[in-house]
Amino acid sequence: MFRLFVALSLPAVLRSQLAALHAGIPGARWVPPENYHLTLRFIGEIEGWQAEEVDLALAGIRSRGFDLTLRGIGLYEKAGRIQAMWVGVERSDALSHLQSKIETALQRSGMPPERKRFAPHVTIARTDRAAPEKLAAFVQAHNLFRAPPVPIEAFTLFSSRLGKEASVYEAEVEYELA
Ligand code: ATP
Ligand code: MG
Repeated sequence: MFRLFVALSLPAVLRSQLAALHAGIPGARWVPPENYHLTLRFIGEIEGWQAEEVDLALAGIRSRGFDLTLRGIGLYEKAGRIQAMWVGVERSDALSHLQSKIETALQRSGMPPERKRFAPHVTIARTDRAAPEKLAAFVQAHNLFRAPPVPIEAFTLFSSRLGKEASVYEAEVEYELA
């Protein structure tokens, strides 16, 4: 079995800009910069033969490269807990197009449809053990965060191994954009 997801990996300049946001919030677990990514589609646990179908389907996608701009910071709350802090994405039709092509391709390869609406973001911290007031103050202070646009020239099929601390992601296949 493989645990897979499709994502954009971020150029080094962007990683350091995000890493520069790290600050002393007790209990916050900052995502290690090598783990930053923007999930386009979570696939989950599948068998090897299905992974091959997925790879074939993704390899057939023809889509254009585009500029990605990260902007804004927010908190993700679930079941009354603030689970994560994320950096948002400036609206991009090219990104939405790519995401929907990936969704279509995966459904053709036999994956069940994703029901959740696509909400592009980059998770920068796990925050369920941090104080909500501290998190809210941090978000207020950094609300105007905006990174310069970066060119996106590929998307990536990642495998994920869940660990006690941070998960380990591995780029399995890179698919070039035109
Ligand atoms: P952990 O689960 O230990 O916190 P993780 O979330 O970093 O680790 P995965 O669970 O393998 O690692 O997830 C990989 C990527 O897919 C992450 O961006 C995660 O937010 C996203 N993801 C995981 N599960 C889902 C899901 N059910 N729906 C949508 N996206 C998901
Ligand atoms: Mg997870």
